[in-house]
Amino acid sequence: MAKYIFVCGGVMSSVGKGVATASIGKILQTRGYSVSLVKCDMYVNIDAGTIRPTEHGEVFVGEDGIEAVQDLGTYERFTGQVSTAAHYITTGQVYAEVIRRERNLEYDGEDVEVVPDIPNEIIRRIENVAKKDKSDFVVVEIGGTAGEYQNVLFLEAARMMKLRHKSDVLFVLVSYLPVPGKVGEMKTKPTQYASRTLNSIGIQADFILCRSEQPIDDKRRKKLALFCNIEPEDAISAPDVDSIYDVPVNFAKDELDIKILKKFSLKPKKNALGEWIDFAARVKKLDRPVKIGIVGKYFNTGEFTLADSYISVIESIRHASWNLGLNPKISWLNAEEYEKNPRILAELKKYDGIIVPGGFGARGVEGKIKAIEFCRKRNIPFFGLCYGLQLAVVEFARNACGLKKAHTTEVDSGTPYPVIDIMPEQSVNIKKKRMGASMRLGAYLCELREGTISARAYGVKEISERHRHRYEVSNEYIELLIKNGLTVGGVNPQRNLVEIMELKKHPFFLGTQFHPEFKSRPLSPHPLFRAFIRAAGRNRR
Ligand code: GLN
Repeated sequence: MAKYIFVCGGVMSSVGKGVATASIGKILQTRGYSVSLVKCDMYVNIDAGTIRPTEHGEVFVGEDGIEAVQDLGTYERFTGQVSTAAHYITTGQVYAEVIRRERNLEYDGEDVEVVPDIPNEIIRRIENVAKKDKSDFVVVEIGGTAGEYQNVLFLEAARMMKLRHKSDVLFVLVSYLPVPGKVGEMKTKPTQYASRTLNSIGIQADFILCRSEQPIDDKRRKKLALFCNIEPEDAISAPDVDSIYDVPVNFAKDELDIKILKKFSLKPKKNALGEWIDFAARVKKLDRPVKIGIVGKYFNTGEFTLADSYISVIESIRHASWNLGLNPKISWLNAEEYEKNPRILAELKKYDGIIVPGGFGARGVEGKIKAIEFCRKRNIPFFGLCYGLQLAVVEFARNACGLKKAHTTEVDSGTPYPVIDIMPEQSVNIKKKRMGASMRLGAYLCELREGTISARAYGVKEISERHRHRYEVSNEYIELLIKNGLTVGGVNPQRNLVEIMELKKHPFFLGTQFHPEFKSRPLSPHPLFRAFIRAAGRNRR
C-alpha cells in the first residue's frame, strides 16, 4: 500500500507550503521512491480556470487540460510529475460528485451527510491517485491554514485516513515562526497554537517545518518538542532562501528524507540529490546578467501578485538563462502605459529581450501591439506566448501587410480583417455560457516545419505542448502573412491550426499558440525559451 503524507499550514498563509510539498516529493524521489503530489484546494470553484490571476496566481494547465492553481506547476518543476486532473481536488469537485451520486440513487436510500460522505469522496480521490500512478508515496498539500473553517473537511479526510491506516499516514505542519523586529528573537507560540488547533481536529503533527527568517536553534526545537508533542529533531529548519530550489537541499541537510522513511520503517534506496545540489549552487554564482522585460497587465495588486500571475514564465526564463550561464534580471512593463504615452516605448531598448505572455480581453492590448511593433522594427528579441503570438500576428497584419484595421475578434468583433478569430466550437460555448473548462485545453500535437527556428530549437519533427485558448490564427490570412515575411513554424496536424509563427530576418521573433512555459524544468529548460534567451544573450546591452 502507498504511504500518505499530508502537508497542512499553520499560523498564516503564503509561507511556502507548495514549495515545501514539492521539496518533500523531491527528496523522497532522490531516495529511490516514486511520488505523486496532490493539491487539495478549499475553493468551491470546480477548477482554477474561472479565477482571475490576480486572485490566485497563474492558472497552470495540466497535460489532460486541467486548469489548476500554480502549486501544480511547482510540483512538476521539482519532481517532473506530469500533472493531470487527478492531482487537483477542490471542494467544488467533491460536492459535485457527491450530489451527482445522490441524484443517481447511488447511496441506496441512506441519508447523505457532510461527514462522512464528503471526506469519503476526498479519500477516494486521494487513494485513486496512488492506484493510477502506482506511486510509493502520495504527498497531499491541504490548502489554507489550520483553524479556518474552509479546509476542515479536507483535514477531516486526512484524520480518517490515519484512523484507517495508522502506519501509512503522517502529518507535516508547515508553520511560521516570527522574529518580531523590536524583540529580535524567534517566537514559537503561534506555532504551539497551530499545533493545538490540529490536535483539536484530531491530528498530531509528526514533523513541523519551521518557516522563518532564520534557522531554528536547539532551544526552540526543544520548546516545540515539549509543547507540540514531537521529537526535537522533527522540528525541521526552513529559513528564508534566495532561491526556492535550495529548499530540497536544506531539507536533505536536516535529513528530513531519512526521518520520514524511518517513521514508515523504510530505508533509503539511493541518494541522487547530487545533481540538484550542484545546480542550486551553480546558479548563485552566475553574474553575467540578461535583462528580460515582460509586457503584461495583471499589475493592480502589487509586486507579489504580479510574479505569481506569470510564475511559469518567470521560472522558464530562469531555467533557460541558468543553462546558458546567464543571470536573468526580469522587469515588469505595464502595457497600458504604452497606450497612454507611446514615448515610454523607447524604454524597451534597455532590455535584451521582451516577452508578451498570455492574456485575455481588451485591456492593455494596444500597448502590447505597440511593444511588439517596436521589438520587430528595432531587432529586439521577442517571444510571444499565446495572446503574445496572436497580437504579434495582428501587429504584422496591420503594419507589414497593410491591413490597417486588422484585429482579433476577441477585442473587435466587427474588424474587417479578423486575422485572429474564434474557433467554431468556441462561439457555441460562449453563446451557451459554457465557460468552465471549455477552452482548447491541454496537450496537442504540433508538426514542426523544416528549416524553421522552431525545428532547429527542438531538434525533432513533432512535439506536444499545452494549450489554453479560444481564438486562433485565421488560415484565410496565412498566405498574405507569409508573402510579407512571416513563417509558419508549426501546425497542429489534426485541425491544421497554426501553432507557431516566426520571422526569419530578425535576431529572434517568435510566437506560440501553446504555452511552452508549462513544460520547462530547472535541469532541462524549454528549447524555445533557451533559443530566445540565447538570442537575448547575444543582444546584451
Ligand atoms: N485570449 C486568447 C484566446 O483565448 C489567448 C489566451 C491565452 O493567452 N492563454 O485565444
